[in-house]
Amino acid sequence: MTEHTLKVAGVAVDTRHWIGGERVASAGTFTDVSPIDGTVLGEIARGGPAEAAAAVAAAKSAFPGWAATPRAERARLLHAIADGVEKRIEELAIVETTDNGALLRSHRRGVMPRVAHNFRFFADWSLKLDHEDFETRGHTNHVSWDPAGPSVLITPWNAPLMLSTWKVAPALAAGNTVVLKPAEWTPLTASLLADIAAEAGLPAGVLNVVQGYGAEIGDALTSHPDVRRISFTGSVPTARRIAASAAPHLTPVSLELGGKSPLLVFADADLDLAVDLAVEQYDNAGQVCLAATRILVEGSVAEEFTRRFVDKTTRLQQGDPRDEATDIGPNIHPRQLEKIDGFVQRALTAGARAVIGGHPKDGQYYAPTLLTDVAQDSEIVQEEVFGPVLTLQTFADEDEAVRLANGTRFGLAATVATGDPERAERVSAQLVAGTVWINCFFVRDLQAPFGGSRHSGVGREGGTWSFDFYCDLKNTVTAPKGWKDHG
Ligand code: NAD
Repeated sequence: MTEHTLKVAGVAVDTRHWIGGERVASAGTFTDVSPIDGTVLGEIARGGPAEAAAAVAAAKSAFPGWAATPRAERARLLHAIADGVEKRIEELAIVETTDNGALLRSHRRGVMPRVAHNFRFFADWSLKLDHEDFETRGHTNHVSWDPAGPSVLITPWNAPLMLSTWKVAPALAAGNTVVLKPAEWTPLTASLLADIAAEAGLPAGVLNVVQGYGAEIGDALTSHPDVRRISFTGSVPTARRIAASAAPHLTPVSLELGGKSPLLVFADADLDLAVDLAVEQYDNAGQVCLAATRILVEGSVAEEFTRRFVDKTTRLQQGDPRDEATDIGPNIHPRQLEKIDGFVQRALTAGARAVIGGHPKDGQYYAPTLLTDVAQDSEIVQEEVFGPVLTLQTFADEDEAVRLANGTRFGLAATVATGDPERAERVSAQLVAGTVWINCFFVRDLQAPFGGSRHSGVGREGGTWSFDFYCDLKNTVTAPKGWKDHG
């Protein structure tokens, strides 16, 4: 270990920023701790306004060259980054698990391959963007997807590299240069991504990675006049601050925020499937924006559903996320654990009943919890907990199910379990949600629009929608030869 390197399971990670193709230290640092057992992983460069200014300047100066690079060449470099990710899947997986506590087996088999896929998909999609020319009274309209400029990407800790690359890949493919700021609780894999991009031959300044706290470096990035796009995934309060900070320069902002998504279980559903879908909501210790944390069950099957749910949940293994047999790992931070327990204890005081769980366990773990006897307007039903805490409410008919499902300020996703395709169609048409899953959960195609309604977000990313955001669309109208405007 050198002064600026830490090691996780033998993998060296540079703790400095990556700005303009160079490693840059800061005067201050912050401490990175593993949620698995509280081990201190190391000291990370703590950026502020000076580092923000340097990173935006590097992105600005690299922009003309990158924007002018043919799309096919940009795509080739993105595929080279994907190759680098694939070569280092084991390293990325163990570093991410150690840093954020999510399951190693998911990182190995699902998440890191998906990170590589993010680069391949958006590289290929950028080559298909052309719009057909069209005519207006003999004039040709040609639509072009011009890169917008330096883009600031700010990401959370619950799926650090996956969510970062879901933004980095389309921004780079579009011809934008990037300043990525990962969450301060999970800074490590973004630093490895900088190494991988450099090894792949990405020119200096095209991807910059800065570390630090939102209030210190984040604000300086989002208020910078040279930034042309801001894409943010995180919480609603931070989104408000970012939107306000971007407002003076009218910088376009894409916001992917929290949720309080429902799982609607109708009596005609395959109950085992419905139970599986419900238990899946404990994935990543409940720290998933899309999680269907409000289970709504038709009254006639509620008792049987609950019996099977409890039976299945009590068989889940909670423990070290590096262990293959583990199903639920730790929560990210002592502060998060406190927040989760605060929600649960207030709900219990207000009259909720814990069917299972309802308390923290040793270390940074929280018992998978199911609360019933909760009122629709109560805090536990209305606010995002971001932990392994689900509520169960019953409904009498379809109308009530839809009313309960739509009865929060969020609108990120909804899952419907039913054996009746017509009901599925009727109900999904009425749900306010960016994504509706029928008899499935978490199936995501990168071609599809992704985002939330109401307080779950502003804008959509994915497929062409990502390029809509990262590009300035331009229509060029050309007159036919010899044409004169006679008014
Ligand atoms: P957060 O808002 O606290 O932090 C997210 C990022 O914003 C971090 O990098 C943080 O440093 C940065 N930040 C904080 N203050 C800032 C400021 N003033 N200016 C600029 N940046 C600032 O969120 P979190 O706790 O890290 O993440 C959890 C939240 O993210 C949950 O609400 C979850 O639902 C949401 N989320 C949404 C999606 C989605 O796709 N919709 C995906 C994952 C997580």
